[in-house]
Amino acid sequence: MNFISTRHASPPATLSQAIAAGLAPDGGLYVPETLPAARVLAPGRDMAGTAAALLLPFFEGDTLAPELAAICREAFDFPAPLRPLATPGDHVLELFHGPTAAFKDVGARFLAASLARLRRDAATPLTILVATSGDTGAAVAAAFHRQPGLRVVVLYPDGRVSPRQAHQLGCFGDNITALRVAGSFDDCQALVKQALNDAGLQQQAPLSSANSISLGRLLPQMSYYAHAALSHRARTGQSLNFVIPTGNLGNALAAIFARALGVPLERIVLATNANRVLPEFFAGAGYTPRASVATLANAMDVGAPSNFERLRWLFGGDDTALRNAFPSASVDDAAIREVIARRYREYGEVHCPHTATAVKVLEDLRAQGETGDWAVAATAHPAKFESVVEPLIGREVEIPPALADLLARPAHADPVPAEYAALRHAILAG
Ligand SMILES: *Cc1c(COP(=O)(O)O)cnc(C)c1O
Repeated sequence: MNFISTRHASPPATLSQAIAAGLAPDGGLYVPETLPAARVLAPGRDMAGTAAALLLPFFEGDTLAPELAAICREAFDFPAPLRPLATPGDHVLELFHGPTAAFKDVGARFLAASLARLRRDAATPLTILVATSGDTGAAVAAAFHRQPGLRVVVLYPDGRVSPRQAHQLGCFGDNITALRVAGSFDDCQALVKQALNDAGLQQQAPLSSANSISLGRLLPQMSYYAHAALSHRARTGQSLNFVIPTGNLGNALAAIFARALGVPLERIVLATNANRVLPEFFAGAGYTPRASVATLANAMDVGAPSNFERLRWLFGGDDTALRNAFPSASVDDAAIREVIARRYREYGEVHCPHTATAVKVLEDLRAQGETGDWAVAATAHPAKFESVVEPLIGREVEIPPALADLLARPAHADPVPAEYAALRHAILAG
């Protein structure tokens, strides 16, 4: 299968080329030339098995095709259980059992497993640049740690990620360099962009990125929806509906793709925090990207969702059809706090602030009379956001073993000014 740019000004690319490049040369996002037709699917024995079958059409004809099963086994080496919530018919799909306790582990591990194979015979290592406000950088660092032929430079805004997040970013060492930048997340992103556009630098040190527009992260995220929905249907005969906490739309878009391929997902509802660009668009306003506002669900603090271009492509540019397809609702910080405290008090459930936005939207849907089997995507373990969650529930959140393991290691990040020369130096020093 070939992949084209959403802006139609780049030559078609193979899957390997699209994964290696990240962004298309015309600045657009890679999408499949056509989505594979919906087919009848059955759950695999485990998530890796379901993933390999689902992803096969995308890999057909590519140099990575013979490696697909092995890549899936490497990426999906932890479970994503679907568990019932206390309220009848409601479920939670726990996506936080990977090494850094957030769903981004899935995409990052698949991307790393793919790139490691693509770079097997390269003479110079490939440097992956990541600007992060927390979760992405940790997932990428964990996934690429000690992968031969690959190194990672992570930039994060000093003092603006949680202490636990900072520790996760700095605890790897080896081929992972953490830079704490005296500036904002936007400064970090601008520095990464400048480096990726620096042709002279690229000649000395080949660079790529690992942000959520990468196909190597997007496509594998279909797998947990497919495995959960197919297993649920095999068990109960019912389709699943989903509420998905949304920032850059990568996670939700994977569910939308999975449904188009024949996965028994009925409705897909997007939950955002107080950043309302998407709910406003779906309610009929124009698409007006803007600066983000800070919220308790900070991994969703996005004012210009990067995957929106792919969503528009999927609907052939028909915004009316797109608006009719996806209900979406915004949840503010007061409601996030209220739902975390109340679900713990009434049911003993502990949700991270991102998952809480989806729980709140599901509660509202039920109050409006919505029936059927629903699940929320639980995107992070609450222990990652303990400073928000613990005061609301009045007790400590137990740290999952994988996360405890990372927090027990020593951590180090180099302080750098928000200046391009400093980043260039750090890249060449590796
Ligand atoms: C990244 C992230 C999100 C948002 O996912 P998108 O794919 O950007 O929509 C939600 N919750 C958590 C915990 C995240 O890390």
